Amino acid sequence: MFNCDKCGKCCRNLKLSEMFTDLDRGDGVCKYLQGNLCSIYEERPLKCRVDDSYFAFFKDLMSIEEYYHLNYEMCNIIKKLEE
Ligand code: SF4
Ligand code: SF4
Repeated sequence: MFNCDKCGKCCRNLKLSEMFTDLDRGDGVCKYLQGNLCSIYEERPLKCRVDDSYFAFFKDLMSIEEYYHLNYEMCNIIKKLEE
């Protein structure tokens, strides 16, 4: 399982991907973010579910280890952007 530390920084930087435009409240922050947590966590879109997205979109393209590695890299890039 993907090890998310719940920093919430991906949900505050939606402008980095056009895929998340529908969730952007206008300033790059998701309209469903409360503090650092998702207020619709159990019903959040598939694109917000790292593990489920792998099996839906990426399983034929790369191993799950590669997929997690890319996701962790992206987390680190986003975390540095806000520092
Ligand atoms: S940036 Fe990464 S670690 Fe932080 S909330 Fe998003 S997925 Fe989790
Ligand atoms: S729906 Fe939830 S998980 Fe998805 S971007 Fe918004 S706050 Fe983050």
